[in-house]
Amino acid sequence: MTRPPRISVAAPSLDGNERDYVLECLDSTWISSVGRFITDFEKAFADYCGVKHAIACNNGTTALHLALVALGVGPGDEVIVPSLTYIASANAVTYCGATPVLIDNDPRTFNLDPAKLEALITPRTKAIMPVHLYGQVCDMDPILDVARKHGLKVVEDAAEAVGATYKGKMSGALGTCATFSFFGNKIITTGEGGMITTDDDELAAQMRLLRGQGMDLNRRYWFPVVGFNYRMTNIQAAIGLAQLERVDEHLAARQQVVAWYDEKLSRLGNRVIKPHVEDTGRHVFWMYTVRLGEGLAISRDQVIKDLDGLGIESRPVFYPMHVMPPYAHLATGDLANAEVCGADGLNLPTHAGLSEADIDRVIAALDQVLV
Ligand SMILES: *Cc1c(COP(=O)(O)O)cnc(C)c1O
Repeated sequence: MTRPPRISVAAPSLDGNERDYVLECLDSTWISSVGRFITDFEKAFADYCGVKHAIACNNGTTALHLALVALGVGPGDEVIVPSLTYIASANAVTYCGATPVLIDNDPRTFNLDPAKLEALITPRTKAIMPVHLYGQVCDMDPILDVARKHGLKVVEDAAEAVGATYKGKMSGALGTCATFSFFGNKIITTGEGGMITTDDDELAAQMRLLRGQGMDLNRRYWFPVVGFNYRMTNIQAAIGLAQLERVDEHLAARQQVVAWYDEKLSRLGNRVIKPHVEDTGRHVFWMYTVRLGEGLAISRDQVIKDLDGLGIESRPVFYPMHVMPPYAHLATGDLANAEVCGADGLNLPTHAGLSEADIDRVIAALDQVLV
């Protein structure tokens, strides 16, 4: 008997001008970090987000680090970060010599709970980093209110939320600045890559300076500060520009996948809790994320193994930062929702290349496994 093909949890869609643009880089020999695709991709991304500046980086983690350094975050400072996130969010704070202060999340949206923000603010707090987890923008109005009241910067970690919106604005246009990731499994990809967006001219100039080893932008080989090499290559930007040209089609294909899940998962009754979508804007569903219902005999990790045996890849929701060795000392008494979601949450296959038959297979497998 032939086995059906494996269904992966994520997969890039490279069905546009990616190939032509990469060949243009090779044919022109512009393969390093100068070239027309860098400027074109930055311009197109800024326009897409509705901001003045976009600064391309070599990945989403360096984008976060660069943003924090440019904002002046350093030793002794505190940055409020959700415990339920990908570890890069907290690591970027640590790279600055600053301390991540962990905040709990809303168990329905997985995003940080703004009601818990103010209690965590100290005289050392410099910034808040709302992470738009799995593609849904955080409830930004109360976060921005708290930031204004206390004079804090807001760095959106929008790594998973290209194209997501909040009250008519794009993710990337909501905070002091925002960062994105273009890793292979994200909404759009450049292989490895990242971007920072901001409306602040001075901040953007500082980021460009620091991205290129600290070299004065108007005086070559003059270095007024210690910077980094966080540049993106023209080849990465070539892929990114082609991805951005087709992002609306790819987001629409994801919404179709979501519609199939929403409809068909109802068959499983209360064995799974479907994702909660706020009515504040567009959730782009980087990952269709469910929680397991109560009273099941099977554990979440066994569900992942059993699905794998049926040819379906799935992933656990992120482990909260405070349960892992580097950040265990930051545990507070108020991170219970992060622990619950980290224990029973499951990312189902979500990408633009999935067919209705694929989703039927995922549902049938869940039906078989969830006992
Ligand atoms: C992917 C991701 C990052 C880091 O991006 P890389 O490009 O992998 O360095 C940061 N934060 C979040 C929430 C992410 O999902």
